[in-house]
Amino acid sequence: MMAQYLALKQQAGDCLLFYRMGDFFELFFDDAKIAAQVLDIALTSRGEHGGAPIPMCGVPVHSAEGYLARLIKAGCRVAIAEQVETPEEAKKRGGSKALVARDIVRFVTAGTLTEEALLEPRRANVLAAVCEVRGAIGIAACDISTGRMELEECAPDEMGAALARLGASEVVAPESWENAPIDCVPRPNRSFGSDEGETRLKAVHGVSTLDGFGQFSRAMLAAAGGLVAYLDHVGRGALPLILPPVAREAGTHMAMDEATRSSLEILVSSGGTRRGSLVEAIDRCVTGAGARLLAEDLSAPLTDTRAINRRLELVSWLHDDPLLRGDIRGILRSLPDVGRALGRVVAGRGSPRDLGQLRDGLSEARRLHDVLRARSDRPGPLDEMLPSLSGHGALCDLYARALVPAPPTERSQGGYIAEGYDAALDELRRVSGNARRAIAALEAKYRDNTGVAALKIRHNGVLGYFIEVPARHADRLMAPESGFTHRQTMAGAVRFNALALHEEASRIAESGGHALAAEEAHFEDLVGHAVRAREAIAATAAALARIDVAAGQAERAAEGGWALPRVVDEPCLEITGGRHPVVEAALAAKGERFVANDCCLHPQDRLWLVGGPNMGGKSTFLRQNALIVLLAQAGGFVPAQAATIGLVDRLFSRVGASDNLARGRSTFMVEMVETAAILSQATERSFVILDEVGRGTSTYDGLSLAWAVAEAIHSINRCRCLFATHYHELSRLAEACDSLSLHHVRAREWKGDLVLLHELAEGPADKSYGLAVARLAGVPAPVIKRAKSVLEKLEKGRAATGGLAAGLDDLPLFAAAIEAAEEKVDALRERLNGLDIDSLSPREALDLLYQLKAQANG
Ligand code: ADP
Repeated sequence: MMAQYLALKQQAGDCLLFYRMGDFFELFFDDAKIAAQVLDIALTSRGEHGGAPIPMCGVPVHSAEGYLARLIKAGCRVAIAEQVETPEEAKKRGGSKALVARDIVRFVTAGTLTEEALLEPRRANVLAAVCEVRGAIGIAACDISTGRMELEECAPDEMGAALARLGASEVVAPESWENAPIDCVPRPNRSFGSDEGETRLKAVHGVSTLDGFGQFSRAMLAAAGGLVAYLDHVGRGALPLILPPVAREAGTHMAMDEATRSSLEILVSSGGTRRGSLVEAIDRCVTGAGARLLAEDLSAPLTDTRAINRRLELVSWLHDDPLLRGDIRGILRSLPDVGRALGRVVAGRGSPRDLGQLRDGLSEARRLHDVLRARSDRPGPLDEMLPSLSGHGALCDLYARALVPAPPTERSQGGYIAEGYDAALDELRRVSGNARRAIAALEAKYRDNTGVAALKIRHNGVLGYFIEVPARHADRLMAPESGFTHRQTMAGAVRFNALALHEEASRIAESGGHALAAEEAHFEDLVGHAVRAREAIAATAAALARIDVAAGQAERAAEGGWALPRVVDEPCLEITGGRHPVVEAALAAKGERFVANDCCLHPQDRLWLVGGPNMGGKSTFLRQNALIVLLAQAGGFVPAQAATIGLVDRLFSRVGASDNLARGRSTFMVEMVETAAILSQATERSFVILDEVGRGTSTYDGLSLAWAVAEAIHSINRCRCLFATHYHELSRLAEACDSLSLHHVRAREWKGDLVLLHELAEGPADKSYGLAVARLAGVPAPVIKRAKSVLEKLEKGRAATGGLAAGLDDLPLFAAAIEAAEEKVDALRERLNGLDIDSLSPREALDLLYQLKAQANG
């Protein structure tokens, strides 16, 4: 057995091997140790291998799904080895000692799940493949639970942001690629060929050219090749649902890197869960598919005014008509997850229940179609979606006739094909029904005949139907002429057979077997219909999700009194009465009120320095404006009284850098790496929020860096920026930077207590209130007192020396300083370039060297 196990384990590679033995999946060696730890189950041992006992653990087959889910969550991948013949077949093949043949039937990995139980209903599950072809990065992404596939190409330095946007649960890349993303699954290089990719896609979709789907670059096709090859590998040759690929055009989405995404807590909060995230505060979708699409919208806000306005038009229409919105949401609420049911059906893992879900979902879509068509004031984008909501009439009729109202998830027991659909099947069922009734009648007859009132006809898997009487009555049935034959003696009962019973039982078995086979054949046929209509069904699912997102956005806006944003091309940002949706909800839960604040950036005033005490609301203000931009460009209403948003091409957020110890970088290093990215990438159309740059290092270092970064953003990047800082000294930047203005969050000291007003006001902050905040936080009074006396000393010193920023008066502006330095270097270089060294005497050369040195010293 170990030889068979080890051979399979070799095929499984670095996946845990689930080795089927009877009713258990067993794991051995290191696999067992990992699984026992992750699943918290007992680690035992068995036999020996190489002189040592073999570690082992196992999980019951009937509850394997739950264990699989936990292993996948913990980052494991699993290979499932099933018995591929029965013990009888094995004996026939190789004698009584023959081992049952086993084979890996499938790999279960985070990116390739389709099981309802293993998927989160409101989150997409994306598998991505990445590779590099001649300096271009190709990315193929597919959510195999719904079959959606997207291809894109980007520059190497944009790969991180693209992968962050996709949020893939599994990434595969060529095994020998040096720049592969960390934690990816290495795959053979040859599967990432563009020709191979093209061939595979053509084969999947049964077409001779991909032109009908769009234009794809070599890098995109290579990535697609890697993706399909991987799916083929994990499914052991059975491919899941893959819809025709869609090319994602570069630049059609707002760029956000990973640090920005996590600091804005878009899909997950800093705690690592959906709780407290933006999506949780926004999501009012009533279907899982809608929630998944909303998450996608928020991950990839648009940069095309027309496309944004199309989304807004639909939201706005639904916002203005609460009754219609209620009707639509009512219909959507009862919808099953059509997209995922289709995914399972096409992957060959569908159940009768999935077919029932397609039937119910598609007919509800039709109902929605009729409701919407009755409205003459439909907005354009909705008009275009309407046809996808209908057109499945024949399929719905077929399924309605063929399936019972609530089909089961299990196929093996039958009973899912409706009566009246197939006369032969009905006849088989009638025969077995009659036989069942006949058996019930037999029971009464045998009781009469024998006079044993406790006589029962029962059924089990081993004996089939049998007659059972209590042991004390057994003699009456044992008599040779009684017509009963003895089968089994139990502790308190004895079991018999009888000819008539045997005949009826055979009738049930035979007709039942035939009925099952007939149902199975119908099932395959019904699946075939769905498979053929897969693209149209997927389009219906997509339209339903889009309508759900729009209705959910409208609902959220109505609930919170949100505003329809105006999206324009000029680089401005005018937000009146803006709020932070997550903080506001958290405050509301405590019965507190959020203070709304305005923000008004435009080319002549594009950098706001925001000062004020800790806990005063600086970070909240910064983030709320970034989130409002994001929500508007994702095509939704915004938490404000009014908002005009100049399109943002890139959004950057650096809020309170946190340690990234996993990558071996200190807080300060992370902060500087991220700041460097902003300085090199932000354009005049970008929007940047920076919170407390330089906090992670000494006061002098920090102030100098914050100063230089603010100057560079102002004079070189020239993007819109909100910059929170507690360095008072930075307010002096306003003297030299024309488009920079000073603001602060207000606070007051009242009877020795600090009152934070959370209200933004113009001008620099007057004090830092650090000690008052510390008191508020519960730092003991003696410590505060001591801090006060230290502070007094320091402030006296500051008054005497002119403070931290003394001597900055004659500091030239950042840009000017750089230019001056460059000029000097250039003058030296020009002089050197103009030299003819061969024509110099040794004495002249020495003189010249002195001169050059003097020039270099300035
Ligand atoms: P800072 O960045 O200035 O230290 P934060 O933005 O982190 O301050 O805000 C601290 C706390 O103050 C928040 O957790 C929130 O409870 C409260 N807060 C912030 N802004 C507001 C506001 N506009 N209205 C009401 N409460 C607010």
